[in-house]
Amino acid sequence: MAHDHAKPVDLTRNQELVLGALNHAPAPLSAYDILDRLRGDGLRAPLQVYRALDKLVERGLAHRLESLNAFVACADEHCHRKGLIAFAICEGCGKVDEFADAVIEERLGGWAKQTGFKVERTTMEIRGKCAECLKAA
Ligand SMILES: [Zn+2]
Ligand SMILES: [Zn+2]
Repeated sequence: MAHDHAKPVDLTRNQELVLGALNHAPAPLSAYDILDRLRGDGLRAPLQVYRALDKLVERGLAHRLESLNAFVACADEHCHRKGLIAFAICEGCGKVDEFADAVIEERLGGWAKQTGFKVERTTMEIRGKCAECLKAA
């Protein structure tokens, strides 16, 4: 589960609200989920949410999960947006675990060197069942 980042001081109110919603969610949220949660705080337009999300993702405070078209707060205090980010997505409970793996990263680094491919970012999304769900089955 995502734990709180040391709070950056220069977030706008909307960015703070969106990050707060992501931090308190047990599973990834779509932009519309976020909008739903923040209506009471005065957010009305999807564009407000998208703008805030863009900035949060750009700064590595949140990540977009392409396969779910949803967002999670970054679970790592040391922003690793330049390196490899891996997400284990449980299809049972929807929980997402973020982790980094130095070995995979090294391998990919070697591959990139060999092929001359310039890597901008690498996101792995691993789908399956988490240990809790397997136990419950
Ligand atoms: Zn992260
Ligand atoms: Zn699960």
